[in-house]
Amino acid sequence: MNDAGLNLSDPEPERRGLLLVLSAPSGAGKTSLARRLLDDDGGGLELSVSVTTRPPREGEQDGIDYHFIATETFEDLKRKNALLEWAPVHSNFYGTPRAPVEARLANGGDILFDIDWQGAAQLHAKLPDDLVRVFILPPSAEALKGRLEGRGQDSAEVIAARLARAADEIGKWQQFDYVIVNDDFEASVAELKNILAVERRRRSRVTGLHGFIDGLQADLRRSF
Ligand code: 5GP
Repeated sequence: MNDAGLNLSDPEPERRGLLLVLSAPSGAGKTSLARRLLDDDGGGLELSVSVTTRPPREGEQDGIDYHFIATETFEDLKRKNALLEWAPVHSNFYGTPRAPVEARLANGGDILFDIDWQGAAQLHAKLPDDLVRVFILPPSAEALKGRLEGRGQDSAEVIAARLARAADEIGKWQQFDYVIVNDDFEASVAELKNILAVERRRRSRVTGLHGFIDGLQADLRRSF
């Protein structure tokens, strides 16, 4: 059991997994970036599927986009401490199931989170060393409005509420390790891949180095 109350395996795997958090105001292109990163990474990265009390949008699949649950079920998960973090967003509740994160981290796997700044802050409080936080921004207010209208998923009232909220959300940018202005999708994908590649090489995450260096020192000290 570590500081965050997570059950992790002992001994640790060769590489300690990281938690990559993508946050953004809705319409900034975060979901498309997340999907692309998951596709291109070839299984090294797994998406954390959140629970939500929001009804599914057209085309969304239960268990893939979200686990769509009733408010009573959400309250029950909270009571059982089964959520690693949770937050109200746009008058619905969202949360990260704890068990899949524990299982993946125990195996040295990396996890991608598509969660808001409130969730990112809660994960940071629990697992500061494992977290890599990326904030995605739209290039302009017009671009954000255009994307929300263009995806045709929400009513004019919902879009207006999302735009108003975006101004506040953007104010949280300094709580993130990296900020990407998503003007050119392919350039943003490349930036994200670079961040992931470098963060995976961080010394503290390459736990297998301990054994390698012990062996190397022993060999060097032995007289040849
Ligand atoms: P949407 O309803 O558009 O799918 O998501 C609305 C917002 O909720 C997005 O910013 C999304 O990142 C955030 N969100 C989704 N799942 C979670 C979660 O498990 N925890 C938190 N804190 N935010 C979430």
